[in-house]
Amino acid sequence: MQVYPIRAEADIAVARLAADGIHAVVHQDDEGGLNPGFFKRYGVRVEVAAEDAEDAFESLGIERVFVPGDVATAMFRHAGWAHPHEACGLIAVDGAGKPAFAFCLTNVDESEQRFTIEPVEHYGAMRLAEAMGLRIGGVFHSHVRSEAVPSPTDVENAGDPDWLHFIIGLVVDARPLLRGFRIVGGAVTEVSVSVDQ
Ligand SMILES: [Zn+2]
Repeated sequence: MQVYPIRAEADIAVARLAADGIHAVVHQDDEGGLNPGFFKRYGVRVEVAAEDAEDAFESLGIERVFVPGDVATAMFRHAGWAHPHEACGLIAVDGAGKPAFAFCLTNVDESEQRFTIEPVEHYGAMRLAEAMGLRIGGVFHSHVRSEAVPSPTDVENAGDPDWLHFIIGLVVDARPLLRGFRIVGGAVTEVSVSVDQ
C-alpha cells in the first residue's frame, strides 16, 4: 500500500500500525528478484489486508488522492510526447480537491532536467479551469532520468503550498509510475495516489 525509501521507515510504519491493532508486513522488492537493480527503485513496501487499508492510511496519517483514469492517461501520454524532455502541466481540482482535469502544457525549458510552464498557457489554464467550475490545485511533470521524487529544484520552485505535485517516473514494468507529493515550506510528504479505472 505504501512505499518507503528505506527499510527502517517501513519497520516504523509496521510498528505504528501494530499499535493500532493493524497487521502489516514489509516487502522488499529487491529481495530475490531476477534483476535486483531494476526492482530496487520501488523501495520497500508495507502491505496490509485490503479491508484494513482505510484504517491503515488514517493510522499513518497518509493523505490519499484519487486520480480519474482519463486524467492519469493524459499525464502519461503528455510525458510520452515530451520525451526526452520533461513534460509539464497543471491539474484542475473540484470543490473537494479531487483532481478532475489535466492541462498538458509546454515546457519552455525544453530540458530533460527541469521545467517551466509557458506563462500564457498557465494563465489560459487558470481561466479555463474557472470556466469549468474547477480551480488549479496541482502541477505535474515527468522525470526522464531520475526517480519520481521531487528534485531539489522542484522543492525550491514548489510555489503554492496547497498544490498537489505529481511526478511521472520512468517506465517500469511497461507501466509508467505516478507519484504525488505535498511540498510545504521545503518539506516533502508523499501522498498515496490511486488511479480510478
Ligand atoms: Zn522534477
